[in-house]
Amino acid sequence: MRTAFTDIRLFDGEQVHPTTTVVVENGFVASVGDPEPAGIDHAVDGTGRTLLPGLIDAHAHTLPEDLTTALRFGVTTVLEMGGPSSAEDRAAWAARPDSADVRSAGLPVTAPHGHPTQLFAHLSGPDVPDVSAWPQTSTPEEARRLVDRLVDSGSDYVKFILEEGTVMGDPGLPLLRHDAYAAGVRAAHERGVLTMTHAQTAATWTQAAQAGADALVHLFIDRPHDDRLVDTIAASGAFVTPCLVLARSFMGLAATDLAADPRVVEKLDPLWVDALGRSLSTWNVPFDDALASVAALDAAGIDVLVGTDASIAFPGSGGPAHGASVHHELALLVEAGLSPARALRAATSVPARRFGLDDRGRVAPGLRADLLLVDGDPTTTIGDSLSIAGVWRSGRQLAGEKETVGR
Ligand SMILES: [Zn+2]
Repeated sequence: MRTAFTDIRLFDGEQVHPTTTVVVENGFVASVGDPEPAGIDHAVDGTGRTLLPGLIDAHAHTLPEDLTTALRFGVTTVLEMGGPSSAEDRAAWAARPDSADVRSAGLPVTAPHGHPTQLFAHLSGPDVPDVSAWPQTSTPEEARRLVDRLVDSGSDYVKFILEEGTVMGDPGLPLLRHDAYAAGVRAAHERGVLTMTHAQTAATWTQAAQAGADALVHLFIDRPHDDRLVDTIAASGAFVTPCLVLARSFMGLAATDLAADPRVVEKLDPLWVDALGRSLSTWNVPFDDALASVAALDAAGIDVLVGTDASIAFPGSGGPAHGASVHHELALLVEAGLSPARALRAATSVPARRFGLDDRGRVAPGLRADLLLVDGDPTTTIGDSLSIAGVWRSGRQLAGEKETVGR
């Protein structure tokens, strides 16, 4: 099966090609910029459209149906930041043609009775995990054992939680002890895997940088940024997944525009549309401070990644939705001052590079044909990323999409 995208604007994960030809064969990109070869099975007219690498959500918590939702929104890879699935479960999910590919931390490492225990305390039902059985530690020895167990059981990276609850409306949560956390980070590095750290305050960001964390997932929102904190993170080499959609929800701002957008509503379960229209409202500070923090981190040369923290849609809960909120996060990065191309890199080539996913995140010969086709030009108008005309996973077009022009 050979597909050619002709006369198309291409964002290749790094640069914009105003008009080019992209050929896909047997699930991989065969050529970019070469003349259209003979023997094309399917031609896609790219006039007025833009082709991009499939998007990567670098922070979600997924059930199999969430991976299907994500793919519908052009998200071809989901990097799970903590969940109860096994490596075997994930391989089976990702093998379905209507599912995004997935990597996972497996279960996150937290303090005894630490976050996210409190989120599940008052819930019951088949989708509610037994968090008391998740890895909890207060000693370096135990932290090392837990990390070994996670890596042995197929975690692609290890996630640690440094959360004392302030911005989530639950101050005083037990915080992972620093010696246990630092030992866990060292143990993960000895096993050759990346460490992700959930942290939402300036103090825990500094703690993570001191321990050698590879990534800060979430944003410090307890106070505005200052040069010292930004310099500390820049010097550590860590990347940042700020999850601005979620931060905005903590600050009482619902994604009402998204919840009313027909491009979203037609692809999303009503439960999730409802969640988009609500906010968590736990922390009353100006969202502009969060935007300014992200701008400062980006200006300091720190890699910023798109992540949503979309999770389980609890009845009545608010916040990010799978797939859809990736596009909202892109728009918020642009609102923070990143160029549209830079924002798109944050959901394509940058996460691929930082997570060592060498086979994706760009459109180049030899890479997986994970592709998103949109009407318009998101490299100048970021909102066009939601005008989805087609999604391909490993060269196979997702069924149920708008018919692309064949010949
Ligand atoms: Zn999360």
